[in-house]
Amino acid sequence: MKVEFYRHGLDEADIANVVKVLNSIFLSTGPVTAEFEGKFAAYTGLANVVALNSCTAAMHMTLTALGVGPGDEVITSAMTFLASATSAQHAGATPVLVDVDPATGCIDPGAVGAAITPRTKAIIPVHLYGTMCDMTALRAIADKHGLFIVEDCAHCIEGERDGVRPGHLSDAACYSFYATKNLACGEGGAVATRNEDLAKAIKMVSLHGMTRNAASRYHGAYQHWDMLRLGWKCNLDDIHSALLVSQLDRLDASWTRRHELYQHYERGFGATPHIQRPAVVGKSGHHLYTVWVALERRDEVLHSLQQQGVGVAVNFRAIHLLTYFRDTFGYKRGDFPNAELIGDSTISLPFYPKMRDEEVDYVVEQVLKVV
Ligand SMILES: *Cc1c(COP(=O)(O)O)cnc(C)c1O
Repeated sequence: MKVEFYRHGLDEADIANVVKVLNSIFLSTGPVTAEFEGKFAAYTGLANVVALNSCTAAMHMTLTALGVGPGDEVITSAMTFLASATSAQHAGATPVLVDVDPATGCIDPGAVGAAITPRTKAIIPVHLYGTMCDMTALRAIADKHGLFIVEDCAHCIEGERDGVRPGHLSDAACYSFYATKNLACGEGGAVATRNEDLAKAIKMVSLHGMTRNAASRYHGAYQHWDMLRLGWKCNLDDIHSALLVSQLDRLDASWTRRHELYQHYERGFGATPHIQRPAVVGKSGHHLYTVWVALERRDEVLHSLQQQGVGVAVNFRAIHLLTYFRDTFGYKRGDFPNAELIGDSTISLPFYPKMRDEEVDYVVEQVLKVV
């Protein structure tokens, strides 16, 4: 049997939506993007959404629009995709990595508190695998020290913890619609925020610092535009937005199926002492299904699963051990033991709505066999 690591869930309606855009006059950021932004705002319960071309850009633009830049420090997790840290650098700030809760892999609020300096301006919590960080604790720390919170929600659109959803206790929630994410359009992202002025500032810096976008230049009587500040170019176009508009209607059904698959895996692995799984706290966004195996055997298990036709991935090796972060910031092994242990033992298994129950059974069987 061959079980792909990921298969997207795009359907004929999504494709038809794209064709409609291709047959229209307008390809870039226009009415379809606006439609998606409105629908995503309704879904997240956050009034303002700006669609961008990646989550990396979403975090970079949000920090920039908040005024975070050179001389400032931004605290984020060592157990994440590198973009949680590099987006702070793109804004001109210095990322400061901290360790994670060994049970969930989410940023440890105690470690965040300990890393705060007079230069700290923001925290980027990462809702790893889909389980939300302890936003109540992070909110208290941010209030005490006057910090912004910008959430990396690349794994968590649907999650909730302690009655809190992404973006509801922070300045902004940043999402990814990259090819393998729970809503996927190839490359895409968005910021959702309660703060209307922040959304406007993000919109402007993400379009060259210009006062009007192409759609508003195209529609109605010609009006001159101005450039108010140096910006970037990372708006999302209508072609990509078309894939998201109709997919969003199926997101809850997709979550329900992912939750079933999660339960199926959990039943399958049962109480085996050979693999640990991350704790799920509250409602997970269920982006990844991850197992933690004995670290000295991780790569062997990984390769063996691949040989048995099971698609695998590593999300993630602790980022402070990547060459760039070692060289640039002097991080070394031993700095963040919990993130290192997870990074050395983690294997992500196939996990997506199109996955069949027999495929889960096969993956479980192969994992148990090799461990
Ligand atoms: C995928 C991912 C990102 C980056 O998303 P892009 O849309 O590719 O920029 C950021 N953080 C985490 C945790 C991710 O998994």
